[in-house]
Amino acid sequence: MRISLSDEQQQFQDWAKKFAESCVKPHVERHQTERIQPELLKELSSQGWMALTVPETEGGGGLDPLSFSVCIRELSRVCASTAITVAVTNMIAETLARDGTAAQKKKFLSSIVSGSSLTASFCLTENSSGSDAAALRTRAEKKSRHYVLNGEKIYVTNGAYSGVFLVMARTSETPGAQGISAFIVERDQKGLHLGKEEDKMGLTASSTIQLSLDQVEVPEENRLLEEGEGFKIAMRSLDSGRISVASQSLGTAEAALAAGLRYVKEREQFGKTLSEFQAIQWKLANAATELSAAELLIAKACDLKRKGRSYTRAASMAKLFATESATRVCNEMIQIFGGYGYIKEYPVERFYRDVRVTKLYEGTSEIQRLVIAKDLLKGAEL
Ligand SMILES: Cc1cc2nc3c(=O)[nH]c(=O)nc-3n(C[C@H](O)[C@H](O)[C@H](O)COP(=O)(O)OP(=O)(O)OC[C@H]3O[C@@H](n4cnc5c(N)ncnc54)[C@H](O)[C@@H]3O)c2cc1C
Repeated sequence: MRISLSDEQQQFQDWAKKFAESCVKPHVERHQTERIQPELLKELSSQGWMALTVPETEGGGGLDPLSFSVCIRELSRVCASTAITVAVTNMIAETLARDGTAAQKKKFLSSIVSGSSLTASFCLTENSSGSDAAALRTRAEKKSRHYVLNGEKIYVTNGAYSGVFLVMARTSETPGAQGISAFIVERDQKGLHLGKEEDKMGLTASSTIQLSLDQVEVPEENRLLEEGEGFKIAMRSLDSGRISVASQSLGTAEAALAAGLRYVKEREQFGKTLSEFQAIQWKLANAATELSAAELLIAKACDLKRKGRSYTRAASMAKLFATESATRVCNEMIQIFGGYGYIKEYPVERFYRDVRVTKLYEGTSEIQRLVIAKDLLKGAEL
């Protein structure tokens, strides 16, 4: 089911697979009841995982988009919680590498590269603004050489460990996207309160917290780009993040399909293995076909990104199709396992719980459709 990779891309995939099997797999059982241990995060960081997308000139891995996608996919085959932790940190690192000043890179990007900030977080969503992210209410009030931030963020991935938080806040009365700016907030900043961990359906080892900002003084130098450019920065970050979420969902569904393929050859009913029933074969064929198509859409988005072309629509298409297909595949694998599929001793219920969120975060499927339709209706090339 693999698209052809260059020798270098293949090496990255082999490296990721080996790492996932040897360093992440031993933690998977613990990850069902505990958050990722800092030791694993340190190991990920020391192996370069947290800055794979950062150019080599900035100390990162300099991976092209497809190489990064296959690495996230390999990690997700073993542990989706670890994969999303890495993916979000890379999304912030990539944003800093792209939009940060030399001083911001020196201070914040290098903290991710070196591992002194174990992870990084993206803080856009609030209680009353999820899909309608431009309606956010967190305020950043300018006071001579600094801003004072006040507000509440929810669903902050990696929040428990991050040293660097990218916070979108309103700097002007202008409603909607134009009034939003992006700030780098440090973990130890006075007034930044890390709230409770969410108790989630899946991705149990990934940290998801609430965050409150109470009179947090952020130096002007921590604003990314100009005032009013925060929403644009966030959307560009999400374009990239959506390829990662698509890759994450693909990896999880591939693991589910692999488990299904093993099971149908072992389980017998009516004197035959399940693999001999055509109804079961169709499920397997549909699953493999959908995942192959998802892989191609991801590769297309990666290709456009690598070439420096607009890839917003392609990333949304990849995320929409991959996450919907992957969720269907994981659900069907539970069906193939029968009652055992519902039991935690078998892996497929976890794959389903882990994959389900991919249709929600970094823009729901409905929002991906809006993004795609908007691009089509403005007359973009098909
Ligand atoms: C585990 C997890 C981790 C997350 N991590 C982060 C993070 O690190 N940083 C961050 O900022 N956010 C994060 N999020 C937030 C996530 O991106 C939002 O949950 C998501 O964007 C949806 O917003 P919402 O939950 O408020 O749903 P709502 O916006 O309230 O949507 C509810 C439903 O209505 C639909 N809907 C809304 N508007 C429309 C429309 N115009 N047309 C059609 N249907 C519509 C939605 O698709 C959805 O089905 C995370 C969420 C989860 C669950």
